[in-house]
Amino acid sequence: MRRAGGRLIAALLTTLLATGAAARDGRGENTPRLTAETAAAGAVLADARRRKRAGTRAKVPPGKPRRKAREAAAPAGSAPAKARFGAVHGPTAPPTRAIGGYSRGCLAGAAQLAADGPHHSAMRLSRNRRWGHPETIAFVEDLAAAAAGGGLNGILVGDMSQPRGGPMPFGHASHQVGLDVDIWFAARPEAPLSPEARETMDFVTMLNAAGTAADPERFTPHIAALVREAASDPRVERVFVHPHIKKAMCDMSWPRRGFLRHIRPWYGHDSHFHVRLKCPAGSPACEPQSPPPKGTGCGTQLDYWYTPAPWTPDPKAKPKSPLTVERMPPACRELLAAPSHVSVPTPAPPGTTAPPAPEPMSAAPPGPATDGAALANRTPSATDGAAAAPDQAAAPVPTGQPTPVPPSPQ
Ligand SMILES: [Zn+2]
Repeated sequence: MRRAGGRLIAALLTTLLATGAAARDGRGENTPRLTAETAAAGAVLADARRRKRAGTRAKVPPGKPRRKAREAAAPAGSAPAKARFGAVHGPTAPPTRAIGGYSRGCLAGAAQLAADGPHHSAMRLSRNRRWGHPETIAFVEDLAAAAAGGGLNGILVGDMSQPRGGPMPFGHASHQVGLDVDIWFAARPEAPLSPEARETMDFVTMLNAAGTAADPERFTPHIAALVREAASDPRVERVFVHPHIKKAMCDMSWPRRGFLRHIRPWYGHDSHFHVRLKCPAGSPACEPQSPPPKGTGCGTQLDYWYTPAPWTPDPKAKPKSPLTVERMPPACRELLAAPSHVSVPTPAPPGTTAPPAPEPMSAAPPGPATDGAALANRTPSATDGAAAAPDQAAAPVPTGQPTPVPPSPQ
């Protein structure tokens, strides 16, 4: 028993050290898994102590060697889906189908956005995330043309989806069915972008230095008009922006305000806005999100974000276990096994072979209650809440404090 306890302590220490290393080197995407392992190792240790006090031994399934007991407890084939989907570099053959939900789904027959178009440039090419449903590609090109017509030099396009959609090794909870796209608020620069600039150009927040409101010097009427253009598009279900950006949009005077309903406040999203398209025709397995609540989402509907509630972590919240392939739609499991339609080499970031820095994966704060309605209810919303979280949430801060600028918004 003492030797077994020693092994458990050693395992626990190893896991704790690994967790610390993961946090230090910024590979925060590993943290939830390691945290869960740490908790599991701690539980095993506590259980061993309890049994020692009670003079009993842990039960071992008959016929299995004792050291196999913990392995036997793990469900078979529970590899995180993000690793599997992140390792596939090419799409399957057309036709295109969005399968499943925005945060639990995949994409068959994906199309790729050009790295450069007349009015857009795609960023962070090394991530291989400029895949999407053709309707998403068409939307991006149309929005870029509208930006050019509105006095901007075009748009910078951030992450869309992986070649087969699915969860990503770092950065987003959604973007899984080829219908989500991140657009930088900052317009495309006049000068052509070098490959290095595409990888390293800094995100530009639209908030003031204190993080307490949108900065009108940065969040100009041209950029606000671009966000309105996106939210007014009939293909679009939602546009996620930081609550302060939503407030700025609400405070502007517009001839018609119906589009504001589609602009939804969410954590992060101060240097990019996230556009989510509706399920397109020809994708019967695409799971739609319920329409945004009625109204503009301004005024009292926005008040919730100016209370401590959305910025206060729930101490009872448990870290989510990573999505496994087994918990995804069966068609997504088949999609993973299908051959690639085209072979796509993944470019390494210039000057390095290391993966790009991920966003920290701090435990998500509680989601806002139903998007303006029933705000007293802290259950994450089925409309805009955790289940539909557009991106990883930014670290929560108390109200009144500067809102954090995500170190690597997606
Ligand atoms: Zn996004």
